[in-house]
Amino acid sequence: MSKAIVSSLYDSDVFRMACRQFDQAADAINLPDAIRDRTKYPRRCLAVALPIKRQDGSVTVFEGYRVQHNLSTGPSKGGIRFHLDVTLGEVAALAMWMSWKCSLVGLPFGGAKGGVIVDPHQLSESELEHLSRRYMQEVINFVGPHSDVPAPDVGTNEKIMGWMMDTYSNHVGHVEPAVVTGKPISLGGSQGRHESTGFGVAYVVQKYLDDLNIPIKEATVAIQGFGNVGQHTALALANYGAKIIGVSDISGGVYNERGIDVKKALEYMRTQKVIRDFDGGEAITKEQLFPLKCTVFVPAALERAITAENAPLLQCRMLAEGANGPTTNEADKIIEDRGDIEVIPDTLCNTGGVIVSYFEWLQNLSNYYWDRDEVMRKLFALLDKAKDAVEAQKRKYKFSRRLAAQTIGIQRVADAKQSRGLFP
Ligand code: GLU
Repeated sequence: MSKAIVSSLYDSDVFRMACRQFDQAADAINLPDAIRDRTKYPRRCLAVALPIKRQDGSVTVFEGYRVQHNLSTGPSKGGIRFHLDVTLGEVAALAMWMSWKCSLVGLPFGGAKGGVIVDPHQLSESELEHLSRRYMQEVINFVGPHSDVPAPDVGTNEKIMGWMMDTYSNHVGHVEPAVVTGKPISLGGSQGRHESTGFGVAYVVQKYLDDLNIPIKEATVAIQGFGNVGQHTALALANYGAKIIGVSDISGGVYNERGIDVKKALEYMRTQKVIRDFDGGEAITKEQLFPLKCTVFVPAALERAITAENAPLLQCRMLAEGANGPTTNEADKIIEDRGDIEVIPDTLCNTGGVIVSYFEWLQNLSNYYWDRDEVMRKLFALLDKAKDAVEAQKRKYKFSRRLAAQTIGIQRVADAKQSRGLFP
């Protein structure tokens, strides 16, 4: 029985969802009471006010957060999200998922996440720079190469990481590239980091298609969310020979049964920012993407996109979670009961990003830089290892693949906490 005395600080649909997943996993591995709540709840959080002078001379105060879920096995690790829907509870749930993800892959990191309530597209370049620098300034004593290492997430990118690295380095008085990952290459960013999450998703998908004896050249793919992860998943799967038949984002979607020209779609996104009106196929609504008949459906946007309403409509053979927490617990149950869809859970499927972040951090700390082939080879090797571990756990305990991935991650964090003991 859980004995935690907790406040409602993080309470939200998404945090409850992450907690429910944890409880199921903890029950499945009989995690002892004495270690359960220590493993489950975030270690600490910081909320900051970020006043920014706007171009018209006015001042806007934005609110930001950083949540560190677990620091037992190394610095905490996780992106910073700039999005209007950011809440402390969401950031806490995402931090928790980062812990299981890092642990499953065997990275020496705990989980963390940050966020600012803002639509970055509504800011000018200099406003965005001020906000990014101010965020780093406010969390400066909370982060560091050996305590907590941020990275990009939804709404943030290399440029923002560069400003944050510069702000931190100025503060400490020397260059400190290892304080954030996902930086521009010119500032110590790793080769391959930009495309690593999507390329990792695609790599895992083609491995699982192989297991199912489905030739990749016969596979059709629908992708919900066409930001960094969605775009690079599309690009890599198309390079493997799959046909991308549908993509969608906040603005709408495109369907083309003969296959969307991904390079053209990416070029369109670079200039137009949203997929609406892309002429490489037939226009569809974002809702119309879910029932598309396809081999692989990839949610690559925000959490809780696959719901009890649209889960029964899915007509895919495989659900490959490029996003974090894209499937609600209710939808997960529906999909499990249906039994006709292979779920490749987020904990395994989208780890490519944080794996290459780990490589970037290693390269920064050692001041020795790898070429792209080396990065990709090492990325795929770690993904293979994690996939094998998940499949072994799934077989051994007859778990779902999600439960298998999460129980491995959770068990390792719990073991580390157990070994360290409890500071009096
Ligand atoms: N934001 C990414 C994720 O959710 C990457 C985190 C990182 O590289 O630290 O996995």
